[in-house]
Amino acid sequence: MTSAAFIAALEAGDLDGVRRAPKGEAHTHGPFGGDLAFLAGRTGRDIVPLTAPLTTLAEMDAWTAANVADLFKGRDGRRLGWEGAFARARRDGLTRVEFGDDVWMITQQVGDAAELFAGIEAARQAIAPEIDWIPQLGFSRHCKRSWLWRWLTPFLESGGWRSLDLSGDEHAQPIDVFQPLYRACKAHGLRLKAHVGEWGTADEVWRAVETLELDEVQHGIAAADSRSVMRFLADHAIPLNICPTSNLLLGRVARLEDHPIRALYDAGVRVTINSDDALVFGVGVSEEFLALHRAGVFTAAELDVIRRWSLTA
Ligand SMILES: [Zn+2]
Repeated sequence: MTSAAFIAALEAGDLDGVRRAPKGEAHTHGPFGGDLAFLAGRTGRDIVPLTAPLTTLAEMDAWTAANVADLFKGRDGRRLGWEGAFARARRDGLTRVEFGDDVWMITQQVGDAAELFAGIEAARQAIAPEIDWIPQLGFSRHCKRSWLWRWLTPFLESGGWRSLDLSGDEHAQPIDVFQPLYRACKAHGLRLKAHVGEWGTADEVWRAVETLELDEVQHGIAAADSRSVMRFLADHAIPLNICPTSNLLLGRVARLEDHPIRALYDAGVRVTINSDDALVFGVGVSEEFLALHRAGVFTAAELDVIRRWSLTA
């Protein structure tokens, strides 16, 4: 019933109908995945997302610093960010969403590990208690391993976190640097993910999955350049959590019609569709589904298969 309604909504170009179908999101960055209208209502600021492609991650960092970073500072700002993220998730029809905080946040006077967890959970209760939230820890790729150990330890001790992600400049440090940290998180039962193959190569996707024992990959689109890496991902059932509009606006893919998500899907790689940073790129998961259908990348029935995968990730 839900599948039929979702397929009909895609074929009719009906955004509200697409939003009504249950969806999961495994690749979004908390406050940066917030709801534009919700934040405008709370702060009076009309955030204008990107419309033309950037060429570097540094340009995106400059955009966030100029447009939104000040909103999410301090305990109240952090709470606003979390509430905005759950407001967008609710509008987008997400029934399951996976995000959390960078371990570095415990240095930012917004609370200790347990308080950060409680703060996000309180935001969920206030805005969208019906949504299943998967608490995720994050590392930034440029941080020294000794710092990451120090920040991570209280998060593992206080508990409740269920997955781990690594983001930032893919070439800041070799992937091996993070292996002991990932092993510790695996021992604590966390599901392991990392941003790779967005700016890097197919070979780097394969090496990261092997070295860190990843369960899922964030982006990973470069894998489409290699038949053997796609076969490796398919054989090991490693999903790629893909963000098409982010890839376009960061200049990773020139045209949606040519997005490698099609080649990955055809090679048997499990993919999910995600928004990455809805405030920056201006779209949620529902708009991403509609755009892929409109561009002829997938049929509505194929998009329904992908939607159902996102619920069982
Ligand atoms: Zn991301």
